[in-house]
Amino acid sequence: MKKNSVRAWRALTPLALSLAVAGCGGNSNNNAQNNAALVAAIAAINASNPPTPTAPPAADSGCQIPNSGSSVVVGSGDPGDPAAPEPASGYVPGHKLVYAKNYMVAANHPLATRAGCDVLKAGGSAVDAAVAVQAVLGLVEPQSSGLGGGAFMLHYDAATKKVQAYDGRETAPAAATENYLRWIDDTNDQTAPKPGGARASGRSIGTPGAVRMLDIAYQDHGKLPWKDLFGYGITLASDGFLIGGRMATAIAGSASSLKRDADATAYFFNADGTPKALGTRLTNPAYARTLTTIATQGANAFYTGDIAKGIVDKIGVSAAVDGSAITPGKTTLADLANYKAKRRDPVCGTYRDYYVCGMSPPSSGGIAVMQTLGILETFNLGLHKPTAIDLEGGKPSVMGVHLVSEAERLAYADREKYVADTDFVPLPHGSVDSLINKPYLQGRASLISLAKSMGTATPGDLGDVPLGIDKTEEHGTTHFTIVDKQGNVVVMTTTVEGGMGSFHMTQGFLLNNQLTDFSDEPYGKPAQTYKVANRVAPGKRPRSSMAPTLVFKKNADGSMGEFVMGTGSPGGSNIIQYVVKTLVGALDWGLDSQQATSLVDFGAPNSVTTNVGGEHPAIDTSNSGNNDPLIAGLRALGHTVNFGAQSSGVSTIIRTNVGGKPVLTGGADPRREGIVLGDTFAP
Ligand code: GLU
Repeated sequence: MKKNSVRAWRALTPLALSLAVAGCGGNSNNNAQNNAALVAAIAAINASNPPTPTAPPAADSGCQIPNSGSSVVVGSGDPGDPAAPEPASGYVPGHKLVYAKNYMVAANHPLATRAGCDVLKAGGSAVDAAVAVQAVLGLVEPQSSGLGGGAFMLHYDAATKKVQAYDGRETAPAAATENYLRWIDDTNDQTAPKPGGARASGRSIGTPGAVRMLDIAYQDHGKLPWKDLFGYGITLASDGFLIGGRMATAIAGSASSLKRDADATAYFFNADGTPKALGTRLTNPAYARTLTTIATQGANAFYTGDIAKGIVDKIGVSAAVDGSAITPGKTTLADLANYKAKRRDPVCGTYRDYYVCGMSPPSSGGIAVMQTLGILETFNLGLHKPTAIDLEGGKPSVMGVHLVSEAERLAYADREKYVADTDFVPLPHGSVDSLINKPYLQGRASLISLAKSMGTATPGDLGDVPLGIDKTEEHGTTHFTIVDKQGNVVVMTTTVEGGMGSFHMTQGFLLNNQLTDFSDEPYGKPAQTYKVANRVAPGKRPRSSMAPTLVFKKNADGSMGEFVMGTGSPGGSNIIQYVVKTLVGALDWGLDSQQATSLVDFGAPNSVTTNVGGEHPAIDTSNSGNNDPLIAGLRALGHTVNFGAQSSGVSTIIRTNVGGKPVLTGGADPRREGIVLGDTFAP
């Protein structure tokens, strides 16, 4: 039985109700009936969530902007409210560590953080809060995640001390063959290029998994009524929110692609065709209606009925607004109805005094992070701390960046060769252990020279298995971390793949382009003699890099101890680098959760190029980087340094002690718009 109705958000106003209904569109009696049902459903939600004062109750003043004793409530619209839109920015210095006593949310948009925080304040579980956060992110950060995308979650249950991984990765439709992304037709039209390319076509769209994943996590760990978790999202969609800087930039940046879709055109553009700009008040009645349906009828209503039909119809669209051709996808109602989110075993191992758990395949994130840490364990990284440590994390040392980057090169080499959806392609020797066992990683570590970069690494020899090939992933992802009053933890990375996904919009949300994370070429080059591990197959999940990560103390016997840290980031295949630098920053260099989050994004994929985020104030990019001792030092070791801006979105919570009492500390990435909220206090 679910107890305690959440009353932390305002109920829908009559105006909101009329907006929600007005946006339904359509011309049939069916729609009129749906609208009547919708009105009744929203009224029912209202009845169970009577309006509450916006001021938080005196007993728990949580979910206000922390620092400097401010009493501004996020989303209030009052002066100082961080939910007022910020311009997109490379890096906003000065983020301060946030402290809370019992509960905390770190997410990449203030309104999403607020939604989760209100749920926690009302006694909700970390999973309850995750549902509320995702419902709001899909509205206010649609370029990064949403109902039409996929996600991975790790959950720590404080009572049972168990970590459970949840897989909400999108799947290829049953009709997808290995040629799905490269040819229009297997038999007739093998050479014709796909109109518009795979990404913007229906072929890139996987069956969405985020809603079903939240549903199964809620079945395991939900506490408050499911329908109450969507109230804030519905209210924002109905009453409107102000477009933030990153969203405005994403609309303008994707204008020509979005304008090929009728729904996206109507939503994201003004009548004169100009993109809706920063600070515009935007309502999304269609999204309010979709959320209301999910809230009242459950996740099944997303995978069957009108919503599923709307998704399938949109994937099947074959002409753009201007009449030009779009290759339709082959997703059917059965693909939606048959979609399954999966409970998986997390990838766990020890790192120095810690026990670390990450996401298992089909993400490569957990394995690559564990491999990198295992390789780094053979070096005394503590000797190579950043210098001049300040709020931004200080200046990384040449040897610190060198060692981490070399370890990552080795990990990426294995990832590229061995990791794909393990329901289709087994890992070497059928087990993750073959890739993360200590003797193997010690052998890999011995390939690192202190004097010279290895450039490109060779994968380890783990037997004769299919080769994978890498894909460049884009930036349509976000991450949030939540700790509830009971000490349960959620780390969730959630994505539509590229910014604005496939640019196909239906019912208020964008559909992903996640299938482009598959290799579109099924055969390895140049010989064409073997099949790649990460090729398309019916029902298969594309390999990901997402790496939601949990850290615990290591018990004397090597087992998992108390919760220490939760983190994760967007960033395509660079996610692995962003997560590793945050972990090393906190665990090896003693940075607090904000400093580790802010710290220069550095690391390397398996190429000669080493990334050193030039957006960070500690990096001097003038004179081609030659004035910066870190860049110059890395060049002297043979690294080709890329100091272009990095686009992480790290959200970190660390449990630590203040005055002998356990407290939560949180950090939001200065490269995005997020904040940290909880029952905060100034230490
Ligand atoms: N699609 C990517 C993945 O699953 C993530 C893309 C991003 O971070 O923007 O690994």
